[in-house]
Amino acid sequence: MNERDFFDERPETKRANYSCPHCRERADYEVRWLRRTKKSQMPRGMNEQQKAQFSKARDYMVRVDDMITCARCRRRFDIPNFQTVVFI
Ligand SMILES: [Zn+2]
Repeated sequence: MNERDFFDERPETKRANYSCPHCRERADYEVRWLRRTKKSQMPRGMNEQQKAQFSKARDYMVRVDDMITCARCRRRFDIPNFQTVVFI
């Protein structure tokens, strides 16, 4: 059993505005995230430690994309935001 078994996973996109470090073009990009929603029922067969982890677990979103492709010059660049996990 791993932590992912605690959650239902759903892909989502969030729009964000970034400027390209190569050509300075600023544009909106659709960035892919996964929304992990805690299961309404505790999975079966967990030990005490896992049950404690489950009860503390919170919904969160994790970013899937690390890089995006510039809409103008088509070069790839790192998403300039180091926040890859957001608690909901
Ligand atoms: Zn560019």
